[in-house]
Amino acid sequence: MTQGGAPATALMRQYLDVKARYPDAILFFRLGDFYEMFYEDATYVARALSLTLTTRDKGKDDPVPMCGIPHHAARAYVGKLTELGHRVAICEQLEDPKLTKGIVRRDVVRVVTPGVILDEESLDPRAPNYVAAVSGDGRQGFGLAFLDITTGDFRATEAPSIEALLDELARAEPRELLVPRGDGDLAAVIKRAYPRLAQTAITVDGEPPPADDSDARKAPQAAIAAARVLRYARATQLSASLPPLPLHLFSRNDFLVIDEQARAHLELTETMLDRKRKGSLLDALDATCTAMGGRLMRRWMLFPLMDIAQIRRRHDAVERLVARQSARDAARKVLGELADVERLASRARLGVGTPRDLVALGRSLVRLPALAAVLTRADDELASTMRREEDLLVIDAPAEVRLGERILATLKEESPAATKDGNYVRPGISAELDELSSIASGGRDRIVAIEARERERTGIPSLKVKYNNVFGYYIEITRSHLANVPADYIRKQTVANAERFVTAELSDYEAKILSADERRIALELEIFTDLRQEVGDQAQPLFAVAGQVAAVDTLAALAEQAHRHGYVRPTIDDSESIDLQESRHPVVEQLAAAGAFVPNDVKVDTAAEQILLVTGPNMAGKSTLIRQVALSVVMAQMGGFVPARGARIGLCDRVFTRVGAGDNLARGESTFLVEMRETAHILRHATRKSLIVLDEIGRGTSTYDGVSIAWAVGEHLHDRLGARTLFATHYHELCALADSHPRVRNVSVTAREWKGDMVFLRKLVPGGASRSFGVEVAKLAGLPPEVVTRARAILEALERDSAAPGVPKPMTPGQGEAPQLNLFEKGPLQEIADALRAADPDELSPRAAWELLSELRKKLTIPR
Ligand code: ADP
Ligand code: MG
Repeated sequence: MTQGGAPATALMRQYLDVKARYPDAILFFRLGDFYEMFYEDATYVARALSLTLTTRDKGKDDPVPMCGIPHHAARAYVGKLTELGHRVAICEQLEDPKLTKGIVRRDVVRVVTPGVILDEESLDPRAPNYVAAVSGDGRQGFGLAFLDITTGDFRATEAPSIEALLDELARAEPRELLVPRGDGDLAAVIKRAYPRLAQTAITVDGEPPPADDSDARKAPQAAIAAARVLRYARATQLSASLPPLPLHLFSRNDFLVIDEQARAHLELTETMLDRKRKGSLLDALDATCTAMGGRLMRRWMLFPLMDIAQIRRRHDAVERLVARQSARDAARKVLGELADVERLASRARLGVGTPRDLVALGRSLVRLPALAAVLTRADDELASTMRREEDLLVIDAPAEVRLGERILATLKEESPAATKDGNYVRPGISAELDELSSIASGGRDRIVAIEARERERTGIPSLKVKYNNVFGYYIEITRSHLANVPADYIRKQTVANAERFVTAELSDYEAKILSADERRIALELEIFTDLRQEVGDQAQPLFAVAGQVAAVDTLAALAEQAHRHGYVRPTIDDSESIDLQESRHPVVEQLAAAGAFVPNDVKVDTAAEQILLVTGPNMAGKSTLIRQVALSVVMAQMGGFVPARGARIGLCDRVFTRVGAGDNLARGESTFLVEMRETAHILRHATRKSLIVLDEIGRGTSTYDGVSIAWAVGEHLHDRLGARTLFATHYHELCALADSHPRVRNVSVTAREWKGDMVFLRKLVPGGASRSFGVEVAKLAGLPPEVVTRARAILEALERDSAAPGVPKPMTPGQGEAPQLNLFEKGPLQEIADALRAADPDELSPRAAWELLSELRKKLTIPR
């Protein structure tokens, strides 16, 4: 590991020089076949990645901690360290150690950061890997830009408020976020929101924002953020250059706003409980065949459209692809053969692509005409519909196909991932290379010829030419024939029964073979590097073609799922209604047994049925129903079909949700606070065009508080906002809202008692649920029969006792009077009722149920 006898101290001086320039990165310092880390880097990395910590200059007074990894394994380790939020500076040897006296020149060739990474081992192929930058102090809004250098995806927008900024951040989910140095406030706010962006590393950008540069202040914030993110990404690529990247400027109003709550509550990309992809809408819809399509599907889902004409164009394409199953199948088959063109092109551009990468890229490019042919052959109308989508689809892409052909003509089909042994350039590419190769491969024949000639010359039939690593080619002669050895043989070694000799001819020949081999490897590398450069120069058009392929893939996947699961093309218009016939929940339906999901008709409409108040017992399907409406809106506006028999959807500008996360009493006040904060956010930002989904608001507090808050929120939605609202509640007291508010519609999800048991019918019917069925659910959950019987008796007593059960008077602002919620008398009965209502039998363990029961008994004062 020591370098050519150079003094260790000089080497460490070189190390410290480089390290001083990258103080905030872990330095991977190349020594021969290893990357070594020293000092704190070594102690940290050894611990974090379970490597062996050793020391350099053992035996000296002050040994240097050191740990190393073989260079070929570096990608995995770099990936892990960036996942932990670190930056890694890769320092390479810039000269051939064999040709260098003293210390080899070394320098950092690139810096890998969580957001600027090329190492595909730690990249999710179906998600973008963004580094994002924020600009502005909020007085004129904020700028936000994000860049994925692995695909060339580069976007920027402006956010009018800090809330909007955080929403957009949550939607982009950057792996790394740059905040300007010196902008302490912004950094603090974003850091406070950090739990919401848990996967994001926050990097304080080295350069302070221009203090009073009037030019910079005139530029739009989005442009400033874009410049910042680009400069940062460029600075990490020291030995390569980023391709010119077109910046897509977008406005928040171009897309249906899905804030962080809605995205989480609707489980668009991951489930709420364990943040798994399985169980999300994306998982249910993503039948794409390529990584590029997978990423686009995700983007379409998080950025549903607001332009009716554009939405209809996507629906047109999906419709045709649904109708033409054989074309769809054929297209998807070709798509399945395509590699990740975007990321491969990017790797080529940044000089890290391997021969195997290029071959994969080449193979994909030459399949493009097949994809185009399938679509065109299917029908011209289909092709032209697809072509209009995103104004692209010219996948015939002749220049790119030629590039693919060139790659495949140059590199061997089975090319290796590493360049060190060569063997990837095809014969016929370079005359010199062919000659060098023939020297190596012709070597065997030549040896056979020499052997034959020498046998004849010496008359020794057992003479053999052999090879070993110590002295290369040699002639072996058995002991009995030693007398006949010619004078020009040079003795090298004696073994058990024979002697070994070399000859001048063999030594010359060997040198020629070895140097030919070295020269061959170097020449192959040269040819490959030129080709990679040529491909890298085309990164821009390759990204464009990849985008077109991704669009075909995504549309075909939407069609595939529409076909498999029986979705319908929605009518999209400017109305303020949503009308779904036989609507289903796309995820719950897929997880349920075939045909087990009960469809329902749902209609909301700002004019007549603005607020749909959904009541019904626990587990009846209220939450599922209201979410499926919101999911259908997202699916329709992203360009897909919806799970229903018929659908008409008036464009929504935002989807708001407040959905209880398996309401948990134990989480207490903080949960309630969060819930109220989310509700406040909705009331402040919703417009008439929004869709609001409220699930069990007010549940995190006592019944009185809960009903009052829910009631007041309902009134506000009705009287002030006018937005389409789906409101699920187990407070059947709220049904009385409809009496005084004309646009509130009561519906309930049905369940029947059958022989004393609950049977969920899951059918939506007009009118509110008469009661909450809590006792029946308690029975279903397995509370002992005596307890259930007793609870029924108590419930009846309570209902008799309460003067005006569950009908609070509407509050009029300024009246200054508390609503009358004479549900129960004050005292133990109320406490028991509250505790019973608040308890969620689904969540209670038998043990907890038993404890709750004992608690209730202690409070019990009604005579038996
Ligand atoms: P609630 O909110 O009324 O307590 P949920 O919406 O959470 O009820 O539904 C409870 C369970 O019932 C869900 O997990 C789902 O498996 C099932 N379910 C809900 N709606 C339906 C339906 N329409 N058809 C079949 N099963 C359903
Ligand atoms: Mg529910």
